[in-house]
Amino acid sequence: MSAPDCQVAVVGGGPGGSTVAGFLARAGLSVVLFEREAFPRFHVGESLLPATLPILARLGALDAVTRRGFQVKHGALFSDQEMDLEQRYYFLRDRPWPHYSFQVPRAEFDTILLEHARAQGVDVRQPATVERVTLDRDGVTLEGVAAGGAFTTRAAFLVDATGRDALVASRIGRRARVPNLGKVALFAHVRGAERASGIDEGSIRIHVFPDGWFWWIPFAGDTTSVGCVMHARTVREWRGELDELYDAMVSRCWRVAKGLNGAERVTPVHRAANFAYVNHPAIGDRFVAVGDAIAFVDPIFSGGVHIAMSSGELAARAIVDAFRDGRFGARRFRAYERAVWRGVKPFFRFIQKYYEPAFLELFLKPCKRLGMFDAVLAVLAGGVFAGMPLRTRLSLEALFALVRMNVWVRRRARLPVESRLEW
Ligand SMILES: Cc1cc2nc3c(=O)[nH]c(=O)nc-3n(C[C@H](O)[C@H](O)[C@H](O)COP(=O)(O)OP(=O)(O)OC[C@H]3O[C@@H](n4cnc5c(N)ncnc54)[C@H](O)[C@@H]3O)c2cc1C
Repeated sequence: MSAPDCQVAVVGGGPGGSTVAGFLARAGLSVVLFEREAFPRFHVGESLLPATLPILARLGALDAVTRRGFQVKHGALFSDQEMDLEQRYYFLRDRPWPHYSFQVPRAEFDTILLEHARAQGVDVRQPATVERVTLDRDGVTLEGVAAGGAFTTRAAFLVDATGRDALVASRIGRRARVPNLGKVALFAHVRGAERASGIDEGSIRIHVFPDGWFWWIPFAGDTTSVGCVMHARTVREWRGELDELYDAMVSRCWRVAKGLNGAERVTPVHRAANFAYVNHPAIGDRFVAVGDAIAFVDPIFSGGVHIAMSSGELAARAIVDAFRDGRFGARRFRAYERAVWRGVKPFFRFIQKYYEPAFLELFLKPCKRLGMFDAVLAVLAGGVFAGMPLRTRLSLEALFALVRMNVWVRRRARLPVESRLEW
């Protein structure tokens, strides 16, 4: 077997790939990163969580992100059209994470992160598509196509950061769809949409309506990202064009229709389908996956970039340790895998619950007792990824107990209790 060209090959230059590569290079490892697309490129996933900012700071990229002047986000507005309820949440001060985050056009954000990785010493090859990876006892061989033609690279270690493409799981593993979350998103950027003022200007809005839910993400300037998540069935049964379906959904959600009155669409309507899955394997001998290459369920709480960057940072730590010890067996990456799942679980639980009217009703009429409000805000800020203090855990259990009681109350009142997952 030929000598490796680098210690670590990272495939994918989204937030997960740039983060793991940046941390590895800062630790002194030689890293080659392959990214299929020329940047800047459009990408879905534009609302960041406050707990992501400390990761950016540790990576040394926070100044570059802050300097760009992205729209500051102080919280979120959630509403439900059927129950006619609306609730604003603001991120709390005096937490280990800031009380704000950013709304970022991903074309710009991902470029900043990838350029930052390059500045840390990562050898970024772009556009370069990896088509085949072959893992063996001593490392990995990557084969692909770049502008100059076909290439082959040898590395001692592989990181799969290919997002929903999940290079390794789709070639040598398996992908499990999450039942009932067969959703499709249609989304576009618009100009001239309604703008809130002051502290609310940058809040993400999540509007639930009978056909699904909308996100509303205001960027700095006059552009807003507006996307609709609906059941795959709705798209399958639609006989017209996708942008007509998007417009039809806008007209059915009165808050969005009102906010878009007079606005102009400035991008095509994009589509993302089948985005709820869990992939295997997430780790192996001389291999780990990060971010969406491991799993993704539902974007309602904007956790994707945070999970990608958190797992990127955790993976880098585990890989640096492996190189220090000169041992790369799958077993030593189990702790990494467990840490990722511990971090992802609170999001998954909230997402499943969010589709139950009994939960949504309490979420939109929050109870401030027993620390429940603060606990919800810790999840919404992404602050529970690194572990949940006992108090937060108990407060969330109290909330879920209240939800169970609310199911009973709603049943007696003959109000709907069935999960809306089947939308
Ligand atoms: C509808 C929807 C809305 C969302 N909204 C939000 C949100 O508001 N906030 C949020 O935080 N998250 C959101 N997300 C999730 C977010 O988009 C992802 O979680 C995040 O982008 C994951 O980062 P990543 O680095 O793992 O993957 P990606 O960002 O997808 O990056 C993977 C990269 O790998 C490259 N690549 C793929 N295959 C290859 C290959 N073979 N060779 C070379 N390069 C390759 C791709 O070009 C891509 O640049 C949303 C997701 C969806 C579906």
